[in-house]
Amino acid sequence: MLWLGVETSCDETGVALVEEEEGRTRVIGALLASQISRHRPFGGIVPELAVREHARNLPVLTARLFEETRFAPRELGGIAVTEGPGLASSLLIGNAYARAMGAAIDLPVFGINHLEGHLFSPFLEGEEPISFPFLGLVVSGGHSLLASVEGWNRYRILSSTSDDAAGEALDKIARLLGLPYPGGPEIEKLASRGNPKAFPFPRGFPEKGDLRLSFSGLKTAVRYFLARHADECRDPAFLADVAASLQESVVRTLCEKTLWAAASGGFRILAASGGVLANRRLREALEAGCRELGLLLRIAPPALCTDNAVMIASAAALKSAAGLPASLREDIDPGLPLAI
Ligand code: ATP
Ligand code: FE
Ligand code: MG
Repeated sequence: MLWLGVETSCDETGVALVEEEEGRTRVIGALLASQISRHRPFGGIVPELAVREHARNLPVLTARLFEETRFAPRELGGIAVTEGPGLASSLLIGNAYARAMGAAIDLPVFGINHLEGHLFSPFLEGEEPISFPFLGLVVSGGHSLLASVEGWNRYRILSSTSDDAAGEALDKIARLLGLPYPGGPEIEKLASRGNPKAFPFPRGFPEKGDLRLSFSGLKTAVRYFLARHADECRDPAFLADVAASLQESVVRTLCEKTLWAAASGGFRILAASGGVLANRRLREALEAGCRELGLLLRIAPPALCTDNAVMIASAAALKSAAGLPASLREDIDPGLPLAI
């Protein structure tokens, strides 16, 4: 069955066509309109601007997607859309668009939780099917969370964001360093030339077994550190050491807590996703840790780590194939939790 996915939870307009057969999905085509250059002058996302961009992009991208893949809307079996969490106005425009399309071609619209999309994205490439239970790690712009995934709709949160999500902290720290938005990839670039052991930046709740995920302390520590070393900050090599050291703090915190949760919970599979998992250093550290523990690591390819519509179409296709009914809330929910 052919599925169209629509993702507009934040600042990327994504549309994708996914074919589902016997519980396996295949990407037919996917398009993404990034708004980074539009928001960059403001140092972060401007919701009013985001919604205008989505409104402009959605019909153009969808038309191009069908044209390029040589499929037609009447061949669709289902439409999937992100119903939350995210920016209210961005979610609204995507949902209005998907519903209008559903009404026009008389198809049900399947609402997907954005975090559920991230959670299952590590399984979208490769041959092995999803095998429950697994430990899910999602680290993105708005969330850092660990969940025991026991089946579709059966997500037990083991730890979630206590203050700033890792991606949000990286974006804010990047601003302090004078780097453009989004900060995560910029910090990674700068860090590649620095020494990760140069400065011992703090880690949130470092005690073994404490799963709380906190990154605002790191942000504050970097702010004071930069103020104390204003002169040295003119040296690019010094800034590279700062970037490498703070990246290391994030990587070590995420790795240690995740691996502890995996070992103590008796998990055999770790599935990692979300924008921050595009970070090479974090991917390598998780790979090394999982190898040591004999844990099977599934990790989304970098392009599926950040926001995209493939993960939304695929989650709906797989849920539907597993017999779950198409469901769409009456309204979008900007604060939609993963587990209800
Ligand atoms: P959420 O999924 O929680 O609603 P979001 O959709 O905005 O938030 P994503 O698009 O999944 O989040 O991820 C974006 C975040 O990932 C940003 O904070 C960005 O800085 C971070 N990020 C992207 N690439 C990298 C990278 N290479 N290294 C570190 N962080 C990165
Ligand atoms: Fe996201
Ligand atoms: Mg994003």
